[in-house]
Amino acid sequence: MSFIAIDLDGTLLNNENEISEENIKAIKLAQENGVEVVISTGRAYFDVQKICGKSGILPFVIGTNGATIHSKDGECISSIAIPKIHVESIVKWLDVHDFYYEVFTEKNIFSLKEKRESFQNEINRLKRADLDEDTKELVSIAERQFDQFGYILVENSNDILQQNDEVFNILACSFDKNRLAEARKQFSNCNELMVVSSADHNIEITSRFASKGLALEKLVYLFNGSLDQSMAIGDSNNDISMFEKVGYSVAMGNAKDDIKALCSMSTLNNDENGVAYAINQYIDTFVVKK
Ligand code: CA
Repeated sequence: MSFIAIDLDGTLLNNENEISEENIKAIKLAQENGVEVVISTGRAYFDVQKICGKSGILPFVIGTNGATIHSKDGECISSIAIPKIHVESIVKWLDVHDFYYEVFTEKNIFSLKEKRESFQNEINRLKRADLDEDTKELVSIAERQFDQFGYILVENSNDILQQNDEVFNILACSFDKNRLAEARKQFSNCNELMVVSSADHNIEITSRFASKGLALEKLVYLFNGSLDQSMAIGDSNNDISMFEKVGYSVAMGNAKDDIKALCSMSTLNNDENGVAYAINQYIDTFVVKK
């Protein structure tokens, strides 16, 4: 059996954060041909459910960068939390170093009210500034992130640390590359954590046993599928782990050159139905009929 794993932001979603009719049609065509479709994203499962519900597609979901896997009928197949002791040290470090961050649990995304306001102010300030095209694009990506469903704004980090739900993913943001590099270095040094990034202004921290690639491998193995006959479509650093697992890796047209160089193929932009183009173009090449 073949799988197609598809990232959401910058890949399946257009710049209005929607799944286009063309992309929906291509996904349904793949499913009709016996291909299992997997949404594989840094977003939380409840957020993905909302997005997919609107478009009427029923996929497997790899959420929070591989920390969760849900079946097509919403059953949780696997979940890997960040050990509690590390959640506390990550949150405290981000507090001391004054980062805007989001903490993803099974039901919610927690962020600090004050930090969120100052990050929004920073976005507003940048939007008024005279920026090059890449920075403009990054600022609009950062703003679209606030479209996620399930936010709970709290006064301080103790409100997050005192809640009992497991934490799957922590995302930290900054437009200052040096500060972000410092944070990446801090958490990459810990053997029990995995640090990836879905855009130039963020890092995303999970358990070291959670990645999009490891989750896809697990899912394909569980259903007796073939990774060699599967495809992954994405646009950024947090997609690399799944590109490395599949026979057919597809970089979006809007992906950076280093991502394109890692992939076996590339497709159109996320605003040009790049996912539909890739599926229609390559489906006959790799699909193992049921
Ligand atoms: Ca992405």
